[in-house]
Amino acid sequence: MNIIIFGPPGAGKGTQADKISSYLNLHKISTGDLLRNEVKNNTDLGNKIKPIIENGKLVSNEIINNLITKILSKKAFYNRLIFDGYPRNLNQAKDLDFLIKKHEQKISHVLSLNVDKDTVVKRVLGRQVCTNCGKIFNEYFSPPNSNEHNCESKFLEKRSDDSEKIIVNRYETYEKETLPILNFYKKQNLLHEFNGNSEINLIYKEIMTVLGILETWLYKLSLYK
Ligand code: AMP
Repeated sequence: MNIIIFGPPGAGKGTQADKISSYLNLHKISTGDLLRNEVKNNTDLGNKIKPIIENGKLVSNEIINNLITKILSKKAFYNRLIFDGYPRNLNQAKDLDFLIKKHEQKISHVLSLNVDKDTVVKRVLGRQVCTNCGKIFNEYFSPPNSNEHNCESKFLEKRSDDSEKIIVNRYETYEKETLPILNFYKKQNLLHEFNGNSEINLIYKEIMTVLGILETWLYKLSLYK
């Protein structure tokens, strides 16, 4: 199955996408991570998109389409993808529709995490990413502890686009450009909306219900108790 997960920056998309992909053995495709990698590696593309990302604007659909075309043509990823942060506007959603059909795949579920602007700002300002293992923490809400994180603290970094002014820009870009896509998927009966202010595991449980695998998941959990 291919899944799309939506939400404003800081809604917890990455966290839920990680949990879902590790349980269902899907490949998480975060266009934000792919683009940040280009910036980090100082590639030509990275240098071109750096100022755009740092201003909280969207990079061009052409760049995103090139990335997604490569991904959808990989046999190992066939119908095993979870998209985090993509599509980001109506044209990307239509392009994805075209590409998905061309590669004889389908979108099974679209999950949207709804969170208000104030909560997003608080969450994003505290966000820390471990550059060693990729785990995401929040210095206010869920700081790293030694039970779940063994990397040295020097690896904990904030993202360069996680400042208050940029986060407000990114939220507004989300409202203007990305929210209209939800209707596109609603009409196709693919959309499921969640209260992104709820606790992480509660949202995950609701997602398992929507995917129709709550019973199996609870059963597997009980085996480890
Ligand atoms: P994210 O990590 O998903 O919040 O993305 C970080 C930044 O990367 C965004 O603010 C955009 O500048 C850019 N970006 C990520 N995904 C896309 C996309 N699908 N289309 C355009 N820009 C994107």
